[in-house]
Amino acid sequence: MDKPQIHVVSLSGGKDSTAMLLRMLEEKMPVDIILFCDTGLEFPELYEHLDKIERNTGLKVTRIKAPHSYEYYFSEVEIKRKRSTVFSEKYGVEHNGYGWAGPKMRWCTEVLKTRPRERFLSELRQKYDVIEYVGLAADEQFRLERKCNQRSNCRHPLVDWNMTERDCLNYCLERGYDWGGLYEKMRRVSCWCCPLQSLKELRVLYKDYPQLWSTLKRWDKMTWRNFRADYSVEDLEKRFDLEKEWLELGKDIKSKEFYAALKERLRTDDER
Ligand code: SF4
Repeated sequence: MDKPQIHVVSLSGGKDSTAMLLRMLEEKMPVDIILFCDTGLEFPELYEHLDKIERNTGLKVTRIKAPHSYEYYFSEVEIKRKRSTVFSEKYGVEHNGYGWAGPKMRWCTEVLKTRPRERFLSELRQKYDVIEYVGLAADEQFRLERKCNQRSNCRHPLVDWNMTERDCLNYCLERGYDWGGLYEKMRRVSCWCCPLQSLKELRVLYKDYPQLWSTLKRWDKMTWRNFRADYSVEDLEKRFDLEKEWLELGKDIKSKEFYAALKERLRTDDER
């Protein structure tokens, strides 16, 4: 006997998946479950945004999590590494935890998002024919090539509607969803502690979210992996402070002189 269908909307809470959900509801498409994988690392505005969706639509957002916190996987989980790994060569000892994500090692996407979602969906699949709706915008077609987006039961309404990322943001703004201005400050809204963010986004984090920044600094001291190839969190802070000093004096923070002064500040602080 055929299993009954169930329609699951994957909601990251960003502009694209929010626009997809809102338009699906407006077009009276079936929505049975709105699924959000909570990394615990979203900006406060994003959690407020999810509450607002629930209030405005009268629908519940199903929030799922990995078994442990980010901090546990980041610094405590025991990882079996070959002794020849670059880490043990560098430090001479084995280190627990995955540390910061890197461009080629986004362990947190897998552990905190993909696995909990797959676990949830595979349980659902035992009883239902699950149709999953994913918020890929029409100008992100390259992501469609990924295996997970090619499954026959995976739908991409934004592509069908030819809605680009810009269209999605406008669509949400027109309906009163503005994330407290987060998209005015940041190009992408993802985990506040992500080392893969741009310098501009990290500058916003330092300036506008001092508590999150101090957690970032604390975490940076707990791991073996560099936050970025060019700066530790503490060095970034020194850079942003120096930028502030220079801007107050009306000086150019993109000049060669600025970078020379920064180099000197980082060197002298290191020697102290
Ligand atoms: S946004 Fe960054 S920190 Fe968050 S899951 Fe992705 S790679 Fe990890």
